[in-house]
Formats: sequence, structure tokens, C-alpha cells
Amino acid sequence: MSITVERVTKYYGTQKALDNLSFEVKTGEIVGFLGPNGAGKSTMMKIITGFIPPSSGRVLLNGIETGCDDPEIRRKIGYLPENNPLYPEMYVREYLGFVASFYLSGKERQKAVDEIIELTGLVPEQNKKIGSLSKGYRQRVGLAHALIHNPEILILDEATSGLDPNQIVEIRSLIKEAGKEKTVLISTHIMQEVEAICSRIIIIDRGTIVADDPKEKIYSRIMQAIQTVKVEFDRQPDEKELASIPGVISVSRTGSNMFIIEAESKADIRPHIFSYAVNNNLTVLSLIRQESNLEEVFRKLTA
Ligand code: ADP
Ligand code: MG
Repeated sequence: MSITVERVTKYYGTQKALDNLSFEVKTGEIVGFLGPNGAGKSTMMKIITGFIPPSSGRVLLNGIETGCDDPEIRRKIGYLPENNPLYPEMYVREYLGFVASFYLSGKERQKAVDEIIELTGLVPEQNKKIGSLSKGYRQRVGLAHALIHNPEILILDEATSGLDPNQIVEIRSLIKEAGKEKTVLISTHIMQEVEAICSRIIIIDRGTIVADDPKEKIYSRIMQAIQTVKVEFDRQPDEKELASIPGVISVSRTGSNMFIIEAESKADIRPHIFSYAVNNNLTVLSLIRQESNLEEVFRKLTA
């Protein structure tokens, strides 16, 4: 089942959270929805899932317009909201039975609960109170909730935020497994997050799309956007002058005569640094090109 977002704009009062957004997620695709905090990711997901209406524009599922009033929308979509709101006083199995009762009854409901507990690795925790679970297990309960009615579409909002590295790996593989035959849109503000799961990435910033490309293309675009070099001089240069070398974006000091310099990647910055040194009677002790930190560059790309 495909998702088509057509020219969606959303205002909260007078504040524009989404500005004329259009994109498509094809059947079976796993798409990463990236952007800094406040970009509008959660808002877009709430509109797709029919929790809130857009101010203008529309969302289509398999080409058919949908919205908050469509009773079928809950059946088609599994949704893990940001911060995963759950009932802390309910027991895991009890809660999932309650959720399943919206869709199924009798033996079928029982079977769905058993299967989802198994799939999400909740067997040992099934008779515990949700409030007593670790964050990782609570996230599994949220995923179980989203998956219990076997929806064709999964919308996961910051599914791994707040988890420790082991939990992240487990939840990711769970999403990958569960998403095999589904259309998945997964939001995150962490660049690396999508690496493991997604094939395509949409980046939004301040309510507009800044990139929508296959993962590899986004990576090379980001890697090409900025070059980082580490340079050491024999004595201290004038930092302001260093920053005014053509192409230099930023200069940060990491030691007494050591600097990390970020520059536009149009041309290699190293010859410019070298001639700056020569003109200022400085000796370059070392000059090394560094791999860009994805996270850092992503921050710059959307700055
Ligand atoms: P993200 O999920 O990318 O962090 P959100 O969709 O939560 O972004 O928020 C987008 C913008 O809309 C932010 O500026 C946020 O403060 C604002 N916003 C989100 N929800 C509401 C709301 N219910 N009422 C008013 N403003 C909101
Ligand atoms: Mg959000």
C-alpha cells in the first residue's frame, strides 16, 4: 500500500509547521524521515495517520484520499507515536488484548496477541506491568501495539529514541523484520539511525523538503558538501585570518597550534592553507583530510 502526500500545509494557529509538502512512499519501501527537532516530522506523521487534519493538501493511500474521518485508516496503518504513550498501570498481555479488541474478537484476538508477543520478544514480560518495564521493553510494547492488526503501513515516530545501543540494535532488527512486507515511514533526528534500515531518505527542515533521494545518493551528497581538514602549525596563527581563507566555513581550535577547518568541497582547501602558511611565515607540521562526521554535516545541511 502506497502513501502519497500532496501539497500538505499545516498551521498551528499562525505558526506554519508544514509548508506545501509533497512526497510518495511506494508499496514495500522503507523510507527514513529525517530532520532536526521542530522540522515537522511528527506533524506530518499525525496527518498521515489521521490524528490531525492538514490545513490544506491531502494524503492518499493506494491512490485513494483519506483523512481523519476515514474509519478504515486505523486498520490500514500501524502507528508508533513519539514518546510512545502507554498505560503504565496495565499489564503487557492485558494491554495488547485491549488494543486487539478494536480489530478482532474471540479466538482470533487471542491468536493475534500470542503472535505479537512472540514476534516482539515480550514473552518473559507479558505478565508484568507496563510501568515497570525498561524503556527498551516499553518500546517493544509500542511496536506490538502498532503491529497487532497486521497493518499494511507502519508509521514509526522516533522509534529508537532514548534507548541504549543494545536496545537500538534489537529494535532496529525488529523493525526490519516486521517491515519486510509493509510500507514503512520511520522518523528520526539521528542521521545514522536510518543507515541500518532505510533505502530512501527524505530530509525535512522547517516544514519543507530539503532532500528526497536514495540513501547512497544522500550520503555522497552530504559527504561532498563539506571537507574537513586537521592542520598543525609550528606556532599560533591568527584565527580570524585562517577563517578568511576563501572557501573556509569554520575554524575550531583543538590544541595550541592545532585546528579543525571545515571548508566548502568545491576545491581542495589544502593548497590554500599551505599558501596562507607560507605567506605568514608559518610552518605546516601536518595537514590531514578527515572523514566528515555525518551527524555534524547533517546539522549543517539543515542549519
Ligand atoms: P518534529 O517532530 O520534526 O520535531 P513537530 O512536528 O513536532 O516537529 O513540530 C513542528 C513545529 O510545530 C514545531 O515548531 C512545534 O513547536 C510546532 N508544533 C507541534 N505540535 C504543535 C501543537 N500541537 N500546537 C502548536 N504547535 C505545535
Ligand atoms: Mg517529533
